[in-house]
Amino acid sequence: MADCIFCKIAAKEVPSQIVAEDDQVVAFRDANPQAPVHVLVIPKSHIANVAAAEKGDESLLGHILRVGAQVATEAGVAQGGYRMVLNRGPDAGEAVPHIHLHVIGGRALEWPPG
Ligand code: AMP
Ligand code: ZN
Repeated sequence: MADCIFCKIAAKEVPSQIVAEDDQVVAFRDANPQAPVHVLVIPKSHIANVAAAEKGDESLLGHILRVGAQVATEAGVAQGGYRMVLNRGPDAGEAVPHIHLHVIGGRALEWPPG
């Protein structure tokens, strides 16, 4: 989608630190990390947010979760644990309208989140 920063990252039109990629998804380091490990997993196809996902997107959404878990393992935080987050809407602080799974770890994370 034109003017979508994450579509541009997926297309390599905008640089990012990619840690995993396949035909469906890209995982890259968050530019403003909130923990020692902070990676975003996005679909290469533009899905605006979790509420915009359609029935046909279900396997892709599940794949994003699996890739997120693989990224966490490869980053060395599987043992200590990590958090996966999907922000939706202004109260959650959603800033980029291209669905992205945050994978956050490498430190003790507070609960409930702020
Ligand atoms: P959210 O608040 O869930 O929409 O999260 C958006 C995330 O994208 C934030 O954590 C930003 O730091 C991150 N972000 C925005 N632009 C970029 C970029 N060009 N490269 C890497 N991370 C980005
Ligand atoms: Zn997009």
